[in-house]
Amino acid sequence: MLQFPVFLDLQGRTALVLGTGEVAERKAAILRQAGAEIRFAAHFAPDLLEGCAIAIGADAEEPELRALAEACRARGIPVNVVDKPELCTALMPAIIDREPMTIAISTGGAAPVLARQVRQRIEAAVPPGIGRVAALADRFKAAVRRRLPDLVARRRFLDTALAGPAADLAMAGRDAEADAAFTRALEAADARPPGIVHLVGAGPGAGDLLTIRALRLLGEADVIVHDRLGTEEVLDWARRDAERIFVGKSRANHCLRQEEINALLVRLAREGKRVVRLKGGDPLVFGRGGEEAEALAVAGIPCEVVPGVTAALACAAGAGIPLTHREAARAVTFVTGHRRDGQVDVSGLVRPGQTLAIYMGLAMLPQIRDGLVADGLDPATPAAVVERGGTARQRVLRGTLEEITAQAPAWVQGGPALLLVGETVGRSAPAWAGARLVA
Ligand code: SAH
Repeated sequence: MLQFPVFLDLQGRTALVLGTGEVAERKAAILRQAGAEIRFAAHFAPDLLEGCAIAIGADAEEPELRALAEACRARGIPVNVVDKPELCTALMPAIIDREPMTIAISTGGAAPVLARQVRQRIEAAVPPGIGRVAALADRFKAAVRRRLPDLVARRRFLDTALAGPAADLAMAGRDAEADAAFTRALEAADARPPGIVHLVGAGPGAGDLLTIRALRLLGEADVIVHDRLGTEEVLDWARRDAERIFVGKSRANHCLRQEEINALLVRLAREGKRVVRLKGGDPLVFGRGGEEAEALAVAGIPCEVVPGVTAALACAAGAGIPLTHREAARAVTFVTGHRRDGQVDVSGLVRPGQTLAIYMGLAMLPQIRDGLVADGLDPATPAAVVERGGTARQRVLRGTLEEITAQAPAWVQGGPALLLVGETVGRSAPAWAGARLVA
């Protein structure tokens, strides 16, 4: 983050605007909307900053603008000099005013036009009446606190109420009816709502390969229990103040044992929390989601599973490898390279017309190759290893199974990697092979 956004309270405070032209007038008008009193000046003098909460440099000579910027810096007064980012300690964002809600967008000075475009998109998505909903919440703030002292219960209630009929009425400007509806909802609110666990598939790690449902749940969660595969990009979508618990599950590095993770989920849900258990890819594909769901069922905790893009699908799409093909494969098998006891077992997998997507297989490549070849697979069968498939850091190694087995150990860079084997792997269509699907 290059700049930290804050919202300044300028009600009744003084703002210095240096310059007297059209730009200065425009800036002054925005500051006035925020309740500031404007002190205009054509020339800079340090005394002008006395009692100022913010200063804007607009249509003035360069040396004066510099003097303004320096004096503001020395006094800790935020200063914005139009079109001179190097002199600014504060940037003027593109603003959407839905009083009492304010949305501000900045590109850190890189492309104000882009900020304006984004503003237009948000303007279209955020209804004009949303400010009235914020005002409704404000009217009931104290009453909600009294009725629901517990923070989790309160948040849960507001999540529902601010998207329900009372909010619709407020948005339509029917405040009296909105208040009545809100009061009814508040009276009916559950002071101790039961917890719930959502087992959510995070996809391969790219923030935009989440489902919309996953996005919503991440935004609503009280706690997010995640492991290495729930990467930062995905966690960025979570509510800022949601508690995050890292349980560090990667192949060789189990921070918490599975039973401990199960117990943790049960405990959090019993505290009434809305828990998102975020799992890489899809929760039910080599993700132990089934074990966690069982443990929750035994404990009587409600649990819902939200599917995610599993590694095989992300890798295939990213590398341009069809998993099935009318001429080459009519089946695709998702299989793990190692069994629970750590032994490699690929027996019974070799069949014509099939693509193999082998998870967690990289450490055992020679054994996998040996097993498949012993069962009759040609070592010259096309194969690929896709590392960090579906993300911006995806890498692909292509060759025959024999070549891949020899080259992959020196090639991998430590990211999660999937092995794909089968005739379809050699059929990557030139038009999309190697195309980066994630911008
Ligand atoms: N539930 C996950 C799989 C967990 S098992 C899913 O549905 O994708 C972990 C294995 O998945 C890793 O060892 C690797 O083989 C594979 N994997 C996960 N993410 C991957 C990615 N982005 N690219 C390649 N392989 C990945």
